[in-house]
Amino acid sequence: MAGRLQGKVAIITGAGSGIGRAAAQLFAREGAGVAVADWDEKGGKQTAASIGRNALFVKADVSSSADARRIVDHTVKKFGKLDILYNNAGIVRYGTAADCSEEDWDKVMGVNLRGAWLCSKYAIPEMMKAGGGSVIMTSSIAGQVAFGNIAAYCASKGGLIQLARSIALDYASKKVRANVICPGVIRTGMTQDLLKDKKAMQPLLKSTIIGRLGEPEDIANAALYLASDESSFVTGSVIAVDGGWTVQ
Ligand code: NAP
Repeated sequence: MAGRLQGKVAIITGAGSGIGRAAAQLFAREGAGVAVADWDEKGGKQTAASIGRNALFVKADVSSSADARRIVDHTVKKFGKLDILYNNAGIVRYGTAADCSEEDWDKVMGVNLRGAWLCSKYAIPEMMKAGGGSVIMTSSIAGQVAFGNIAAYCASKGGLIQLARSIALDYASKKVRANVICPGVIRTGMTQDLLKDKKAMQPLLKSTIIGRLGEPEDIANAALYLASDESSFVTGSVIAVDGGWTVQ
């Protein structure tokens, strides 16, 4: 049976670990050629090696215009086209609006929002050449509700939702769709310290009404749907994959 992404080509940023790695492996199992983009060379190469011939690793900092362009160029050079861009790379820095340093603000905005914009900027023309495509963003529940002491992160993740809606509106006629996934608390490198803290875990589990934490595969499965033609009538949507966190 043909895979759900048979013949498609995808770029996944931040695919050197966590959610991005799970998505890269799933997309490849479903038949896609996958460009694994990450600034972490070791993790990125491991992901690509776990996939094999259908993967390309591109070492890149998504907040750099030259790197974002290089990710797209190398992908098209290897696979001949581009159908899917999964903007997933992200970082967090702590601080309220008054405490956050300008450096941390710029860093978070640079990776989480500017990076997604830059990759989209260079990917969309290639998708149009391919007859259409799918842009996916990993936002967060922090893009929809506020969390204490991570003001820059919340702002960047909220911005991603509006960036996706703008792309959806501007490129619908060109068959380029854009959608957003808002994960809840997912077991990855980003949350490993938090998840070791028993006191911090209590409210996290309480708010996750499904009664368990999320795994990277929970998000990868949603990304697969948005990447595939099964979601051809879905654009500008914001999908919570949060174990029910945002229902109350
Ligand atoms: P992760 O395991 O830390 O994965 C993020 C990957 O992105 C890492 O390999 C990281 O490399 C890489 N990266 C960071 N900045 C980059 C840049 N400028 N250019 C290229 N690669 C870069 O964390 P994750 O949980 O899978 O995070 C994936 C996305 O999910 C992020 O956007 C995050 O905000 C979002 N998210 C996560 C959760 C959660 O609970 N885990 C919840 C909501 C949303 P380094 O490790 O070397 O920095």
